[in-house]
Amino acid sequence: MNYTSTRDNSVKASAAYAIATGISPDGGLYVPESIPALTPDELMAAAKENYRDRAVRVLGKYLTDFTEEELHECVNGAYTGKFGGEDVAPVVDIANNRFVLELWHGPTCAFKDMALQLLPHLLTRSVKKTCDGKEIVILVATSGDTGKAALEGFRDVPGTRIIVFYPVEGVSAIQKRQMVTQEGENVGVCAIKGNFDDAQTGVKRIFTDAEIAAELDKHNMAFSSANSINWGRLAPQIVYYISAYADLMNKGVIRMGDKVNVVVPTGNFGNILAAYYAKKMGLPIGKLVCASNANNVLTDFLRTGVYDRNRQFHTTISPSMDILISSNLERLIYDLSGCDSKRVKGWMDSLAATGRYEVDEDVKARIGELFWAGCCDDASTQATIREVFESEGYLSDTHTAVALNVYEQYTKEFGADVPTIIASTASPYKFAPAVLGAVAADKISDDEFDMLSALNEVSGVAAPAPLAGLKGKKIRFERVCDGSKMKETVLDMLHIKES
Ligand SMILES: *Cc1c(COP(=O)(O)O)cnc(C)c1O
Repeated sequence: MNYTSTRDNSVKASAAYAIATGISPDGGLYVPESIPALTPDELMAAAKENYRDRAVRVLGKYLTDFTEEELHECVNGAYTGKFGGEDVAPVVDIANNRFVLELWHGPTCAFKDMALQLLPHLLTRSVKKTCDGKEIVILVATSGDTGKAALEGFRDVPGTRIIVFYPVEGVSAIQKRQMVTQEGENVGVCAIKGNFDDAQTGVKRIFTDAEIAAELDKHNMAFSSANSINWGRLAPQIVYYISAYADLMNKGVIRMGDKVNVVVPTGNFGNILAAYYAKKMGLPIGKLVCASNANNVLTDFLRTGVYDRNRQFHTTISPSMDILISSNLERLIYDLSGCDSKRVKGWMDSLAATGRYEVDEDVKARIGELFWAGCCDDASTQATIREVFESEGYLSDTHTAVALNVYEQYTKEFGADVPTIIASTASPYKFAPAVLGAVAADKISDDEFDMLSALNEVSGVAAPAPLAGLKGKKIRFERVCDGSKMKETVLDMLHIKES
């Protein structure tokens, strides 16, 4: 299986090369040259397997330059003992044909663990296959969830180092504490005076700085990226939709071939794109429901075919979806345009120049058949958290609640006859202030640990160990640097003196 670029069909790369380098030199994203099929027989066989074997089965179709043994090693390293129990991605029935797919039982309590626990294993092997011998330095700019998940994924992975920059006032108290207490010998964390964009811009500048690249090369190191456009982050996400379908068969909710709908709280479009690929492989998915918060650029796009980022940015209680440029959407429109990299390049050039593009009628028609899109504001998100908690006893985080709310809107139009998988992307404890605001507003306080206890009292569900356990942890990283000093900070953290 080869990979090509969404912006230039003449590009040909192996999976390992695509993962090791992250992005195609033309600025396009790597995509498989064709989407492999999953036959009904294979799906039946997958239903008898555990999560890890399902992962090897699915990943093997995409990562053909990895041996089955290598994939087993990667998958075992990622998922054994790190997600609570055997059930890496459990499906919870919350009545009315709604099945919540909990993707947050990993070490950082957000769904990014599903991919970022596996990526380091795939990346180090990919680097060995393509540009052997170098120590890989991962640089991350984060608005909260990605940084912590990447730190946990790469901690003490031989042959790698990781440095994370976060905006000093842009992350929640718990997210900050998760990062500054990070353990591991190969990790570094630094706050940036500025916002997320400043951190992101600084990291991009370092990636393209020839001087620092030469400096790293002298020390036999090279930069790489763990952001969500890397194919090594997308492929692992396809697995859990197939796994959820298998679980629903095992529970007797559906029979082989029955249609299910899928609802995904969406930001960068990675998670829902994985569901689209699962459907294209042959998983019987009906509608893909795309749920957004007040930053509803995707709702408008999927309804009208016009992508327009020229609009106000809203800071919401579901911050991991506060995004105006959804990078992974490029892979969808590439596929729906019949793999027409010329057209995709035109749209992306227009996005870069004007912040806007409009897809053609053929693509709009395909989107209409596949997707339904909706959005909701913070007040409705909190109302949904309260309603679902009161009626079903199920406590959801703010991102998952956006999905539950938008699904409710969908059922008003189309009914609730189809069993529906709702992707749950974070533990409610990770966003305790907003969740408490919905179910017990009088218990909101200044102390992040008091709020964990309060949520525990109200819900009866224990706080996840990785969050509760932060309380006694030593703070290891107190460094704050100016946006203009990030390069020096990187060299210093790598113990490289500028020559
Ligand atoms: C990253 C994230 C999302 C958005 O996922 P995409 O793949 O970017 O669409 C949703 N919820 C949470 C909690 C996240 O961390």
